[in-house]
Amino acid sequence: AIELQDVHLSLGRGAARVHILKGVSVSLSDGEASGLVGPSGSGKSTLLMTMAGLERPDSGIVKVAGQDLGQLDEDGLAVFRGRRIGIVFQSFHLVPTMTARENVALPLELAGTPDAFARAEAELRNVGLGHRMDHYPAQLSGGEQQRVAIARAVAPDPAILVADEPTGNLDEATGRSIVDLIFALKRERGATLVLVTHDLSLAALCDHTVRLRSGVIEQEDAMADI
Ligand code: ATP
Ligand code: MG
Repeated sequence: AIELQDVHLSLGRGAARVHILKGVSVSLSDGEASGLVGPSGSGKSTLLMTMAGLERPDSGIVKVAGQDLGQLDEDGLAVFRGRRIGIVFQSFHLVPTMTARENVALPLELAGTPDAFARAEAELRNVGLGHRMDHYPAQLSGGEQQRVAIARAVAPDPAILVADEPTGNLDEATGRSIVDLIFALKRERGATLVLVTHDLSLAALCDHTVRLRSGVIEQEDAMADI
């Protein structure tokens, strides 16, 4: 589960400082898929990074899988992220100097998982990339890079999986296969999923949508009610 209570967050310095999240409270249950929607600039990415422990709020509480992230120091937070939170970005964010296998093994090695490379290979086969283990990101198509990124995100069996417009850089057919993969893995691993998207047909695949406007939650709907 993911629980936020009255979260405020500002980013930037001096004249560029922006109050982005203005009192966000939200509760997402274990195993639920939530679509996070709203206009460009409303704070979706910032909210997602806050849920993922990559941004710390100015005030308010962020709890993920029962852990209050505010109680962790930087090292503790990094360890918690590596074990419990999987993150998928629009622009893949693979390490360019590492092969597909090395990229997927990285979080496993950091978490001290035995047989990190064998596990990474199993994860790559599971996303249909058994024949691309030794490829570097630049040698992979966009869809393949996103599959590697997804394999890396789910490899530690995270409690929560967050994805920020994971199909934004892909054509429609490839995007669809990536979405199918994310939902299949979410079901397989029982993770709580938060998916930022501009695409309402994608949001409709979720159990629930959260709509942000200017840093506050505007409405929460069960998809069945729309
Ligand atoms: P999009 O749909 O375009 O991706 P978003 O809803 O994800 O938008 P955010 O990226 O969360 O929006 O940004 C929310 C607001 O915060 C924007 O107005 C942006 O300019 C501002 N912002 C984001 N990051 C920073 C930063 N590091 N410093 C200052 N302002 C920032
Ligand atoms: Mg964004």
